[in-house]
Amino acid sequence: MQVTFWGAVGTVTGSMHELRVDGRRYLLDCGLYQGRRKEAKERNSHFPFAVNSVQAVILSHAHIDHSGNLPTLVRQGYGGPIYATPATGDLCSVMLRDSAYLQEKDAAFINKRRERRGVLEPVTEGGAVEPLYRIEDAEATVPLFQPVGLRTRTALGNGLEYEAYDAGHILGSSALVLAYQGNGRRVRLGFSGDIGRPGLPIVRDPEALPPVDYLIMESTYGGRLHKDLGTVLAKLANVINRTCQRGGKIIVPAFAVGRSQQLVLMLHELSDAGKIPNIPIFVDSPLAVEVTGVFRKHAELFDDETRQFLRNGGDPFGFQRLRYIREVSESKALNDLRGPFVVISAAGMCEAGRILHHLRNNIEDPRNTVLITGFQAQNTLGRKLVDKLPEVPIFGETMRLRAEVETLNELSGHADQRELLEWLKPLAGRLKKLFLVHGEPSQTTAFAQVVEERYGLEAVVPARGQTFELS
Ligand SMILES: [Zn+2]
Repeated sequence: MQVTFWGAVGTVTGSMHELRVDGRRYLLDCGLYQGRRKEAKERNSHFPFAVNSVQAVILSHAHIDHSGNLPTLVRQGYGGPIYATPATGDLCSVMLRDSAYLQEKDAAFINKRRERRGVLEPVTEGGAVEPLYRIEDAEATVPLFQPVGLRTRTALGNGLEYEAYDAGHILGSSALVLAYQGNGRRVRLGFSGDIGRPGLPIVRDPEALPPVDYLIMESTYGGRLHKDLGTVLAKLANVINRTCQRGGKIIVPAFAVGRSQQLVLMLHELSDAGKIPNIPIFVDSPLAVEVTGVFRKHAELFDDETRQFLRNGGDPFGFQRLRYIREVSESKALNDLRGPFVVISAAGMCEAGRILHHLRNNIEDPRNTVLITGFQAQNTLGRKLVDKLPEVPIFGETMRLRAEVETLNELSGHADQRELLEWLKPLAGRLKKLFLVHGEPSQTTAFAQVVEERYGLEAVVPARGQTFELS
């Protein structure tokens, strides 16, 4: 068995690892690489192997940085199975279409801008910009999904099988164990996918993996400790109350999957408890609306608290002050609405979607608050906001950042250093090799160090394209 690392190495995006077993090729994840536009386009549109030689894709979870390049794979000729949990399949059916829509819209925007500029300056670069993939490519991807529940051993042929365990990261998220038996050898490889925090709203806590010989593990927050989840509700209430006192708006860029639903549930609890004023709350994201529908369908995956909420007759994702917005006209109408109110909108890293027009309309007003609730990768607008740069670019315009910026990293869908160590603990004794991926270099290096100190394990930080023999 051989593994080659193609994505999420030295960075958090574009998760993709290639597995070769007896000459057959498998992919663990096929994520969209996000970053500078040109580099991202180049990276996403060129697979470093023959696409039609891939036997199967096994997907850890639905986040776009793990699933979002599947339509490119299919566009370039892949027709094999995509194994994932049923909830991941349902989420991807919504999210990949949305991703394609954003790709198309983005290309159209650039072409329009070029055309406009072309009046003044001739367009020097080639013809029109093509989207990475189109909605029809996403639609061709959906039927390839093979839903397989958690803890269900599935044969992939030629002595290879896999089993998925709850990763507690988002609805349907899984960590995988691949087991190979053949030619008198047995090898077990674990892949963490993204590991959640114990105690996160809605999802269950991450499960322990059974023993493995090799492990590919995420390290997003390998060098950091999150604040305790116990105070997150109070902190959220504080941000809302102080912004309300200024008459401002609370703009919340949030991943449509998971974070939006958690925020809604928390705002619901705060509102029920009278801890925040009765201000309107908008979830302005057609994607979040659809994803919330998938959440409702998979109540079997909820944690005990959320199930209790349901049993008590509460609707975790709906209450009186809350409005879901689908129509563009309604979304635009929010620009003219006076505060205070909360608007939760996607995309989470502020790279695309409706959140951009909310930010453009609101970040220059010091009464407002931008509430960051998730990880922001390098070079994204979200990261610039977290770093509180005095000026940030939105739609090609330079905007002054005057609104308050507050972060709720507690809600991170990713385990912190201590939680990652706990998750690794039962596996550490038997591991022959630990590969650290899905982290910026400072986080991965810090985690490698602490793993060595704590468990005497030498962690490997693979470079892009590096291959390892697993035997
Ligand atoms: Zn994820």
